[in-house]
Amino acid sequence: MSRPLRVTIIGAGIGGLSAAVALRKIGADVTVVERAPELRAAGAGICMWPNGAQALHALGIANPLEMVSPILHRVCYRDQHGRVIREMSIDKLTELVGQRPFPLARSDLQAALLSRLDPALVRLGGACVSVEQDANGVRAVLDDGTEIASDLLVGADGIRSVVRNHVTGGTDRLRYHYTTWLGLVSFGLNLTPPDTFTFHVQDSKRVGLLNVGDDRLYFFFDAVPSGEANPDGVRAELRHHFDGWCSEVTTLVEALDEAKTNRLPVHDLDPLASFVNGRIVLIGDAAHATTPTLGQGGALAMEDSLVLARHLAESTDYGSALASYDNERLMRTRQVVLASRARTAATLGIDNTSAQTWQKQLTDDASQDFLEQLVDIHRAGPLAAWPHDRQEGVAT
Ligand SMILES: Cc1cc2nc3c(=O)[nH]c(=O)nc-3n(C[C@H](O)[C@H](O)[C@H](O)COP(=O)(O)OP(=O)(O)OC[C@H]3O[C@@H](n4cnc5c(N)ncnc54)[C@H](O)[C@@H]3O)c2cc1C
Repeated sequence: MSRPLRVTIIGAGIGGLSAAVALRKIGADVTVVERAPELRAAGAGICMWPNGAQALHALGIANPLEMVSPILHRVCYRDQHGRVIREMSIDKLTELVGQRPFPLARSDLQAALLSRLDPALVRLGGACVSVEQDANGVRAVLDDGTEIASDLLVGADGIRSVVRNHVTGGTDRLRYHYTTWLGLVSFGLNLTPPDTFTFHVQDSKRVGLLNVGDDRLYFFFDAVPSGEANPDGVRAELRHHFDGWCSEVTTLVEALDEAKTNRLPVHDLDPLASFVNGRIVLIGDAAHATTPTLGQGGALAMEDSLVLARHLAESTDYGSALASYDNERLMRTRQVVLASRARTAATLGIDNTSAQTWQKQLTDDASQDFLEQLVDIHRAGPLAAWPHDRQEGVAT
């Protein structure tokens, strides 16, 4: 390509910022359009499992995050009374795939991505309302009437993507699975060992506790409530759902800051037939939103960005690059979304038969089902062969 490829990215979440970093590395001229007036990391914590951690290396942001991200040695499942049901070794996972997971505060991840970008590339406070394209290029139309022209447009605008309509024609379908309440509290509350990702599970409910460094504990409560949010607030709602649970859980309910605890209905997206239409390409949740049960949405968004940049760097025309991206990412993401959906149904008791199988597996000494799934996901991914001794930078 004789002049730099011009790319407009809609959305400055994990996917949009990763794409900006990866595309700048291959010399593209990038503009990121974000509807929020300021960049604030959505959510509280995130675990980048080995495939996601490899993506951090490939994007060149693992080094600063390594300093703050605690080292995890085990996953521990406990019941509502705090009794251990099962412990699994994360060291074994790390050994098998050669990469440790990175538990992180979302604000740290966002800061690391932004540190690799010129702030002038991100245009805040403009929502994309539609997209137009022809043989000469593509235009993002913003809510104030501004049009931004480029050669390609990346839809990284999340699960309720506007750009997706221009790829699917509105035929896509979101599915609700459960509700989550999440936030950060002081790690000093001592609710889990620092090196252990703890889950309390019972009766279609789950509480997750993860150390994300710097005296921050990421927590989430998962349940399938009937009806709307309790008008008396988050604490009242959680007291109701987790009444009688062990002291770690009830202490957390009383200690959390209601104003900083988010209540989110969790959906995923039925797999799409394509992520591409002409000059428009989808990445991240806009393309393949997944339930968080396998901790994969952020990792997949980063993989998308790196794979897209690789195909654009290797192809002589954008059409074949986007076709190769589509080809490579459709099956990969479909498998993860459906595996995560199935695990959600089993672990939250939404599907009775798979819930019984999962509970049996959990008490079976030989079973490492969760970590085995993560090994498989890592090995089937585009970065499994990323060399560990190579300097950080974009895999092209
Ligand atoms: C409870 C929960 C826990 C999770 N845990 C993990 C985990 O442990 N590990 C993991 O890898 N993943 C996890 N995920 C998934 C991960 O958070 C998402 O997959 C990831 O954040 C998706 O990034 P994205 O950039 O595609 O979308 P988003 O983060 O949703 O970003 C989209 C951006 O686009 C902007 N936008 C939207 N519409 C427009 C518009 N019209 N114009 C301009 N801007 C727009 C939004 O403001 C936003 O900034 C979890 C998800 C949830 C819900």
